[in-house]
Amino acid sequence: MAVADLNLDDLRAEYEQLKAKNLKLDLTRGKPSSEQLDFSNALLSLPGENFKAKDDTDCRNYGGLVGIPDIREMWAQALGLPQENVIAGDASSLNIMFDMISWAYIFGTNDSQQPWSKEETVKWICPVPGYDRHFTITEHFGFEMITVPLNDEGPDLDAVRELVKDPQVKGMWCVPVFGNPTGITFSEATCRALAEMETAAPDFRIVWDNAYALHTLTDEFPINHNVLEFAAQAGNPNRFWFMSSTSKITHAGAGVSFLATSTDNLKWYESHASVRGIGPNKINQLAHAQFFGNVDGIKAVMQKHAGSLAPKFARVLEILEHRLGGKDVATWSNPTGGYFISVDVVDGTASRVVELAKEAGIALTGAGSSFPLKQDPRNRNIRLAPSLPPVEELEVAMDGFATCVLLAAAEKAQA
Ligand code: PMP
Repeated sequence: MAVADLNLDDLRAEYEQLKAKNLKLDLTRGKPSSEQLDFSNALLSLPGENFKAKDDTDCRNYGGLVGIPDIREMWAQALGLPQENVIAGDASSLNIMFDMISWAYIFGTNDSQQPWSKEETVKWICPVPGYDRHFTITEHFGFEMITVPLNDEGPDLDAVRELVKDPQVKGMWCVPVFGNPTGITFSEATCRALAEMETAAPDFRIVWDNAYALHTLTDEFPINHNVLEFAAQAGNPNRFWFMSSTSKITHAGAGVSFLATSTDNLKWYESHASVRGIGPNKINQLAHAQFFGNVDGIKAVMQKHAGSLAPKFARVLEILEHRLGGKDVATWSNPTGGYFISVDVVDGTASRVVELAKEAGIALTGAGSSFPLKQDPRNRNIRLAPSLPPVEELEVAMDGFATCVLLAAAEKAQA
Protein backbone atom coordinates (compact mmCIF):
# COMPACT_ATOMS: atom_id res chain seq x y z
CA MET A 1 0.00 0.00 0.00
CA ALA A 2 1.32 3.47 -0.83
CA VAL A 3 0.63 6.84 0.74
CA ALA A 4 -1.78 7.74 -2.06
CA ASP A 5 -4.05 4.83 -1.06
CA LEU A 6 -4.79 6.30 2.37
CA ASN A 7 -8.40 7.39 2.73
CA LEU A 8 -8.44 10.95 3.99
CA ASP A 9 -12.11 10.91 5.06
CA ASP A 10 -11.69 7.70 7.04
CA LEU A 11 -8.57 9.04 8.71
CA ARG A 12 -10.27 12.33 9.56
CA ALA A 13 -13.10 10.39 11.19
CA GLU A 14 -10.61 8.26 13.09
CA TYR A 15 -8.80 11.39 14.25
CA GLU A 16 -12.07 12.94 15.50
CA GLN A 17 -12.64 9.79 17.56
CA LEU A 18 -9.15 10.13 18.95
CA LYS A 19 -9.80 13.75 19.95
CA ALA A 20 -13.07 12.76 21.59
CA LYS A 21 -11.12 10.63 24.05
CA ASN A 22 -9.79 13.85 25.68
CA LEU A 23 -6.39 12.33 26.30
CA LYS A 24 -3.67 13.95 28.36
CA LEU A 25 -0.51 11.99 27.63
CA ASP A 26 3.11 13.10 27.65
CA LEU A 27 5.90 11.52 25.63
CA THR A 28 8.10 14.57 25.44
CA ARG A 29 11.15 13.82 27.57
CA GLY A 30 13.23 10.74 28.22
CA LYS A 31 12.64 10.67 31.95
CA PRO A 32 12.77 7.48 34.01
CA SER A 33 9.38 6.31 35.30
CA SER A 34 8.61 6.26 39.01
CA GLU A 35 8.93 2.47 38.91
CA GLN A 36 12.53 2.94 37.71
CA LEU A 37 13.26 5.64 40.27
CA ASP A 38 12.08 3.27 42.99
CA PHE A 39 14.91 0.84 42.12
CA SER A 40 17.30 3.24 43.83
CA ASN A 41 15.30 4.28 46.88
CA ALA A 42 17.85 2.62 49.16
CA LEU A 43 20.07 5.59 48.30
CA LEU A 44 17.82 7.81 50.36
CA SER A 45 19.04 6.23 53.58
CA LEU A 46 22.71 6.05 52.60
CA PRO A 47 25.50 6.64 53.56
CA GLY A 48 24.08 6.27 57.06
CA GLU A 49 26.62 6.50 59.88
CA ASN A 50 29.54 5.61 57.63
CA PHE A 51 30.54 8.89 56.06
CA LYS A 52 34.24 8.22 55.44
CA ALA A 53 35.55 7.53 51.93
CA LYS A 54 38.16 4.81 51.50
CA ASP A 55 40.96 7.40 51.62
CA ASP A 56 39.57 8.54 54.99
CA THR A 57 38.02 11.71 53.57
CA ASP A 58 35.16 12.89 55.73
CA CYS A 59 32.51 13.21 53.02
CA ARG A 60 30.50 15.68 55.06
CA ASN A 61 33.15 18.32 54.79
CA TYR A 62 34.28 20.70 52.06
CA GLY A 63 36.94 19.78 49.55
CA GLY A 64 37.84 16.92 47.28
CA LEU A 65 37.40 18.68 43.95
CA VAL A 66 37.88 15.50 41.91
CA GLY A 67 35.47 13.37 43.92
CA ILE A 68 36.06 10.38 46.19
CA PRO A 69 38.07 7.32 45.11
CA ASP A 70 35.25 4.90 45.99
CA ILE A 71 33.01 6.03 43.13
CA ARG A 72 35.79 7.10 40.72
CA GLU A 73 37.31 3.64 40.88
CA MET A 74 33.98 1.92 40.29
CA TRP A 75 33.10 4.19 37.38
CA ALA A 76 36.51 3.85 35.79
CA GLN A 77 36.09 0.07 35.90
CA ALA A 78 32.57 0.23 34.51
CA LEU A 79 33.73 2.32 31.56
CA GLY A 80 37.11 0.64 31.07
CA LEU A 81 39.15 3.77 31.82
CA PRO A 82 42.08 4.50 34.18
CA GLN A 83 40.89 5.83 37.53
CA GLU A 84 43.33 8.75 37.53
CA ASN A 85 41.60 10.10 34.43
CA VAL A 86 38.06 9.85 35.82
CA ILE A 87 36.73 12.47 38.21
CA ALA A 88 33.34 12.58 39.91
CA GLY A 89 31.19 15.68 40.25
CA ASP A 90 27.71 16.77 41.19
CA ALA A 91 24.42 15.62 39.72
CA SER A 92 24.57 16.75 36.10
CA SER A 93 27.05 15.96 33.34
CA LEU A 94 25.31 18.56 31.21
CA ASN A 95 26.44 21.17 33.76
CA ILE A 96 30.06 20.07 33.24
CA MET A 97 29.71 20.26 29.47
CA PHE A 98 28.24 23.73 29.75
CA ASP A 99 31.02 24.80 32.13
CA MET A 100 33.82 23.49 29.95
CA ILE A 101 32.47 25.16 26.85
CA SER A 102 32.01 28.39 28.84
CA TRP A 103 35.60 28.25 30.07
CA ALA A 104 36.92 27.52 26.58
CA TYR A 105 34.89 30.49 25.38
CA ILE A 106 36.04 32.87 28.10
CA PHE A 107 39.60 31.66 28.76
CA GLY A 108 40.48 29.23 25.96
CA THR A 109 41.31 25.57 26.45
CA ASN A 110 44.76 24.35 27.49
CA ASP A 111 45.60 24.08 23.77
CA SER A 112 44.04 27.34 22.59
CA GLN A 113 46.01 30.30 21.32
CA GLN A 114 43.20 32.59 22.43
CA PRO A 115 39.76 32.33 24.04
CA TRP A 116 37.14 31.06 21.63
CA SER A 117 35.23 34.31 22.18
CA LYS A 118 38.09 36.10 20.38
CA GLU A 119 37.73 33.94 17.28
CA GLU A 120 35.83 35.50 14.43
CA THR A 121 33.61 32.43 14.31
CA VAL A 122 33.52 29.18 16.21
CA LYS A 123 32.12 26.29 14.24
CA TRP A 124 30.85 23.08 15.78
CA ILE A 125 30.08 19.71 14.21
CA CYS A 126 26.65 18.35 15.05
CA PRO A 127 25.80 14.80 13.98
CA VAL A 128 22.06 14.64 13.29
CA PRO A 129 19.64 13.62 14.54
CA GLY A 130 21.17 14.39 17.93
CA TYR A 131 20.46 15.56 21.49
CA ASP A 132 18.53 18.82 21.61
CA ARG A 133 20.22 20.12 24.75
CA HIS A 134 23.65 19.79 23.13
CA PHE A 135 22.53 21.99 20.29
CA THR A 136 20.99 24.48 22.69
CA ILE A 137 24.35 24.91 24.41
CA THR A 138 26.27 25.60 21.21
CA GLU A 139 23.45 27.87 20.04
CA HIS A 140 23.67 29.79 23.34
CA PHE A 141 27.33 30.62 22.66
CA GLY A 142 26.58 31.66 19.09
CA PHE A 143 28.62 28.88 17.51
CA GLU A 144 27.90 28.05 13.91
CA MET A 145 26.52 24.52 13.97
CA ILE A 146 27.34 22.34 10.99
CA THR A 147 25.38 19.13 10.66
CA VAL A 148 26.73 15.80 9.48
CA PRO A 149 24.60 12.70 8.97
CA LEU A 150 24.63 10.05 11.65
CA ASN A 151 24.90 6.64 10.00
CA ASP A 152 24.59 3.16 11.48
CA GLU A 153 28.20 3.16 12.70
CA GLY A 154 28.40 6.79 13.79
CA PRO A 155 28.85 10.16 12.12
CA ASP A 156 29.73 10.32 8.41
CA LEU A 157 33.51 10.29 8.70
CA ASP A 158 34.25 11.69 5.25
CA ALA A 159 32.14 14.72 6.07
CA VAL A 160 33.79 15.11 9.49
CA ARG A 161 37.34 14.78 8.11
CA GLU A 162 36.59 17.44 5.53
CA LEU A 163 35.13 19.85 8.10
CA VAL A 164 38.02 19.60 10.56
CA LYS A 165 40.38 20.96 7.92
CA ASP A 166 38.90 24.34 8.86
CA PRO A 167 40.71 25.80 11.93
CA GLN A 168 37.49 27.53 13.00
CA VAL A 169 35.92 24.13 13.62
CA LYS A 170 36.62 23.78 17.33
CA GLY A 171 34.56 20.85 18.36
CA MET A 172 31.94 18.21 17.90
CA TRP A 173 29.10 16.62 19.84
CA CYS A 174 28.97 12.83 20.05
CA VAL A 175 26.73 10.38 21.90
CA PRO A 176 28.74 7.24 21.17
CA VAL A 177 26.60 4.56 22.78
CA PHE A 178 22.83 4.14 22.30
CA GLY A 179 22.64 7.69 20.98
CA ASN A 180 19.85 10.12 21.64
CA PRO A 181 17.57 9.77 19.65
CA THR A 182 18.56 7.05 17.15
CA GLY A 183 19.97 4.47 19.60
CA ILE A 184 22.99 3.77 17.40
CA THR A 185 26.39 2.88 18.87
CA PHE A 186 29.60 3.99 17.18
CA SER A 187 31.74 1.18 15.79
CA GLU A 188 35.30 0.73 17.00
CA ALA A 189 36.56 1.90 13.60
CA THR A 190 34.58 5.14 13.99
CA CYS A 191 35.89 5.68 17.52
CA ARG A 192 39.45 5.18 16.31
CA ALA A 193 38.98 7.42 13.28
CA LEU A 194 37.66 10.27 15.43
CA ALA A 195 40.59 9.83 17.82
CA GLU A 196 43.16 9.71 15.04
CA MET A 197 41.99 12.26 12.48
CA GLU A 198 44.03 15.38 11.94
CA THR A 199 42.34 18.64 12.78
CA ALA A 200 43.41 22.11 11.75
CA ALA A 201 42.47 23.53 15.16
CA PRO A 202 45.01 22.50 17.84
CA ASP A 203 42.26 23.00 20.44
CA PHE A 204 39.65 20.85 18.71
CA ARG A 205 37.53 18.97 21.28
CA ILE A 206 35.04 16.14 21.00
CA VAL A 207 32.40 16.17 23.72
CA TRP A 208 32.02 12.41 24.09
CA ASP A 209 28.74 12.32 25.95
CA ASN A 210 28.41 8.75 27.08
CA ALA A 211 25.10 9.31 28.85
CA TYR A 212 23.87 5.82 27.89
CA ALA A 213 27.11 3.87 28.35
CA LEU A 214 25.44 1.08 30.31
CA HIS A 215 21.82 1.51 29.29
CA THR A 216 21.06 -1.76 27.56
CA LEU A 217 17.54 -3.01 26.86
CA THR A 218 18.80 -6.60 26.63
CA ASP A 219 21.06 -8.76 28.78
CA GLU A 220 24.13 -7.68 26.82
CA PHE A 221 26.14 -4.62 27.72
CA PRO A 222 27.76 -2.49 25.01
CA ILE A 223 31.52 -2.21 24.57
CA ASN A 224 32.81 1.15 25.72
CA HIS A 225 35.94 1.86 23.73
CA ASN A 226 38.77 3.63 25.50
CA VAL A 227 38.92 6.63 23.21
CA LEU A 228 41.30 8.41 25.59
CA GLU A 229 43.86 5.73 24.84
CA PHE A 230 43.13 5.71 21.10
CA ALA A 231 43.64 9.48 21.03
CA ALA A 232 46.80 9.40 23.15
CA GLN A 233 48.30 6.74 20.88
CA ALA A 234 47.54 8.90 17.86
CA GLY A 235 49.23 11.94 19.43
CA ASN A 236 45.96 13.72 20.21
CA PRO A 237 45.80 13.16 23.97
CA ASN A 238 43.54 16.11 24.74
CA ARG A 239 40.89 15.45 22.10
CA PHE A 240 38.10 13.97 24.22
CA TRP A 241 36.02 15.38 27.00
CA PHE A 242 34.36 12.11 27.99
CA MET A 243 31.20 12.54 30.05
CA SER A 244 28.80 10.23 31.83
CA SER A 245 26.49 10.18 34.81
CA THR A 246 24.19 8.08 36.95
CA SER A 247 21.21 10.24 35.95
CA LYS A 248 19.33 7.41 34.26
CA ILE A 249 20.73 4.77 36.58
CA THR A 250 19.69 6.03 40.01
CA HIS A 251 17.73 9.26 40.58
CA ALA A 252 17.82 11.46 37.50
CA GLY A 253 17.98 14.76 39.37
CA ALA A 254 20.18 13.59 42.24
CA GLY A 255 22.92 11.44 40.76
CA VAL A 256 26.67 11.72 40.23
CA SER A 257 28.34 12.98 37.06
CA PHE A 258 31.74 12.01 35.69
CA LEU A 259 34.36 13.60 33.50
CA ALA A 260 37.10 11.44 31.99
CA THR A 261 39.88 13.12 30.08
CA SER A 262 43.65 13.50 29.75
CA THR A 263 45.81 14.63 32.66
CA ASP A 264 46.42 18.01 31.01
CA ASN A 265 42.73 18.53 30.37
CA LEU A 266 42.00 17.64 33.99
CA LYS A 267 44.52 20.23 35.17
CA TRP A 268 42.81 22.80 33.01
CA TYR A 269 39.40 21.71 34.30
CA GLU A 270 40.55 21.94 37.91
CA SER A 271 42.12 25.36 37.36
CA HIS A 272 38.62 26.68 36.67
CA ALA A 273 36.50 24.32 38.76
CA SER A 274 38.52 25.19 41.86
CA VAL A 275 37.51 28.82 41.43
CA ARG A 276 33.88 27.95 40.79
CA GLY A 277 33.55 25.93 43.99
CA ILE A 278 35.18 24.06 46.84
CA GLY A 279 34.14 20.56 45.90
CA PRO A 280 31.24 18.30 44.90
CA ASN A 281 28.61 16.55 46.99
CA LYS A 282 30.73 13.71 48.32
CA ILE A 283 27.96 12.38 50.57
CA ASN A 284 25.98 11.57 47.47
CA GLN A 285 29.04 10.04 45.82
CA LEU A 286 29.60 7.82 48.85
CA ALA A 287 25.92 6.87 48.96
CA HIS A 288 26.18 5.80 45.31
CA ALA A 289 29.37 3.80 45.93
CA GLN A 290 27.71 2.00 48.85
CA PHE A 291 24.48 1.47 46.94
CA PHE A 292 26.21 -0.17 43.94
CA GLY A 293 28.94 -1.95 45.90
CA ASN A 294 30.88 -2.74 42.74
CA VAL A 295 30.55 -2.83 38.95
CA ASP A 296 28.31 -5.89 39.10
CA GLY A 297 26.01 -3.90 41.35
CA ILE A 298 25.74 -1.18 38.69
CA LYS A 299 24.98 -3.80 36.07
CA ALA A 300 22.34 -5.38 38.31
CA VAL A 301 20.54 -2.02 38.53
CA MET A 302 20.80 -1.64 34.75
CA GLN A 303 19.19 -5.02 34.29
CA LYS A 304 16.25 -3.87 36.42
CA HIS A 305 15.89 -0.85 34.14
CA ALA A 306 16.02 -3.08 31.10
CA GLY A 307 13.27 -5.21 32.65
CA SER A 308 11.08 -2.14 33.02
CA LEU A 309 11.92 -0.43 29.71
CA ALA A 310 12.21 -3.31 27.25
CA PRO A 311 8.49 -4.23 27.33
CA LYS A 312 7.60 -0.57 26.71
CA PHE A 313 9.94 -0.33 23.74
CA ALA A 314 8.63 -3.64 22.40
CA ARG A 315 5.03 -2.41 22.64
CA VAL A 316 5.83 0.84 20.85
CA LEU A 317 7.57 -1.05 18.05
CA GLU A 318 4.67 -3.51 17.75
CA ILE A 319 2.14 -0.71 17.45
CA LEU A 320 4.26 1.16 14.90
CA GLU A 321 4.60 -2.01 12.84
CA HIS A 322 0.94 -2.90 13.15
CA ARG A 323 -0.39 0.55 12.28
CA LEU A 324 2.28 1.93 9.95
CA GLY A 325 4.22 -1.07 8.64
CA GLY A 326 4.22 -1.56 4.86
CA LYS A 327 2.40 1.72 4.26
CA ASP A 328 5.35 3.80 3.11
CA VAL A 329 4.55 6.48 5.66
CA ALA A 330 7.31 6.04 8.23
CA THR A 331 10.55 4.33 9.19
CA TRP A 332 11.82 3.99 12.74
CA SER A 333 14.82 2.87 14.76
CA ASN A 334 14.82 -0.44 16.60
CA PRO A 335 17.19 0.30 19.48
CA THR A 336 18.79 -2.24 21.79
CA GLY A 337 19.53 0.41 24.39
CA GLY A 338 19.06 4.02 25.38
CA TYR A 339 15.87 5.95 25.90
CA PHE A 340 14.40 6.79 22.53
CA ILE A 341 12.88 5.60 19.30
CA SER A 342 13.52 7.89 16.36
CA VAL A 343 10.76 7.99 13.74
CA ASP A 344 11.01 9.48 10.26
CA VAL A 345 7.55 10.25 8.88
CA VAL A 346 6.70 11.43 5.35
CA ASP A 347 8.94 14.37 4.40
CA GLY A 348 7.39 17.70 5.28
CA THR A 349 4.85 16.28 7.76
CA ALA A 350 6.65 15.97 11.13
CA SER A 351 5.45 19.33 12.44
CA ARG A 352 1.89 18.54 11.31
CA VAL A 353 2.03 15.18 13.11
CA VAL A 354 3.17 16.85 16.32
CA GLU A 355 0.45 19.50 15.95
CA LEU A 356 -2.28 16.90 15.35
CA ALA A 357 -1.07 14.86 18.31
CA LYS A 358 -1.05 17.92 20.54
CA GLU A 359 -4.63 18.79 19.59
CA ALA A 360 -5.55 15.23 20.50
CA GLY A 361 -3.90 15.55 23.92
CA ILE A 362 -0.69 13.65 23.12
CA ALA A 363 2.38 15.78 23.84
CA LEU A 364 5.38 14.79 21.71
CA THR A 365 8.87 16.30 21.58
CA GLY A 366 8.67 19.22 19.13
CA ALA A 367 9.35 18.43 15.49
CA GLY A 368 12.91 19.34 14.59
CA SER A 369 14.11 19.05 18.20
CA SER A 370 16.88 16.67 17.25
CA PHE A 371 18.44 19.25 14.90
CA PRO A 372 20.38 22.46 15.57
CA LEU A 373 18.09 25.49 15.79
CA LYS A 374 15.20 22.98 15.68
CA GLN A 375 15.47 22.99 11.90
CA ASP A 376 14.98 19.58 10.41
CA PRO A 377 15.61 20.25 6.71
CA ARG A 378 13.23 17.47 5.71
CA ASN A 379 10.71 18.11 8.50
CA ARG A 380 10.37 14.38 9.02
CA ASN A 381 12.02 13.36 12.31
CA ILE A 382 10.14 12.77 15.56
CA ARG A 383 11.69 11.50 18.78
CA LEU A 384 9.55 9.16 20.87
CA ALA A 385 10.34 8.78 24.57
CA PRO A 386 8.60 5.63 25.86
CA SER A 387 10.08 5.50 29.37
CA LEU A 388 7.83 7.68 31.54
CA PRO A 389 4.20 6.59 30.98
CA PRO A 390 2.83 3.25 32.17
CA VAL A 391 2.49 0.75 29.33
CA GLU A 392 -1.32 1.10 29.07
CA GLU A 393 -0.98 4.86 28.50
CA LEU A 394 1.85 4.31 26.09
CA GLU A 395 -0.32 2.01 23.99
CA VAL A 396 -3.06 4.61 23.73
CA ALA A 397 -0.53 7.33 22.93
CA MET A 398 1.18 5.30 20.22
CA ASP A 399 -2.04 4.28 18.59
CA GLY A 400 -3.05 7.95 18.51
CA PHE A 401 0.38 8.90 17.21
CA ALA A 402 -0.01 6.41 14.36
CA THR A 403 -3.37 7.94 13.43
CA CYS A 404 -1.71 11.38 13.29
CA VAL A 405 1.14 10.07 11.11
CA LEU A 406 -1.35 8.53 8.68
CA LEU A 407 -3.61 11.58 8.60
CA ALA A 408 -0.70 13.95 7.98
CA ALA A 409 0.58 11.69 5.19
CA ALA A 410 -2.89 11.52 3.60
CA GLU A 411 -3.32 15.30 3.84
CA LYS A 412 -0.01 15.80 2.11
CA ALA A 413 -0.72 13.23 -0.60
CA GLN A 414 -4.01 14.86 -1.42
CA ALA A 415 -2.99 18.49 -1.06
N1 PMP B 1 23.39 13.65 27.52
C1 PMP B 1 22.45 13.01 26.83
C2 PMP B 1 22.75 12.48 25.48
C3 PMP B 1 21.17 12.86 27.38
O1 PMP B 1 20.21 12.25 26.68
C4 PMP B 1 20.93 13.37 28.68
C5 PMP B 1 19.59 13.22 29.36
N2 PMP B 1 18.49 13.38 28.58
C6 PMP B 1 21.96 14.03 29.34
C7 PMP B 1 23.18 14.16 28.74
C8 PMP B 1 21.75 14.65 30.68
O2 PMP B 1 22.71 14.17 31.56
P1 PMP B 1 22.83 14.70 33.04
O3 PMP B 1 21.59 14.35 33.75
O4 PMP B 1 24.03 13.98 33.56
O5 PMP B 1 23.05 16.18 32.98
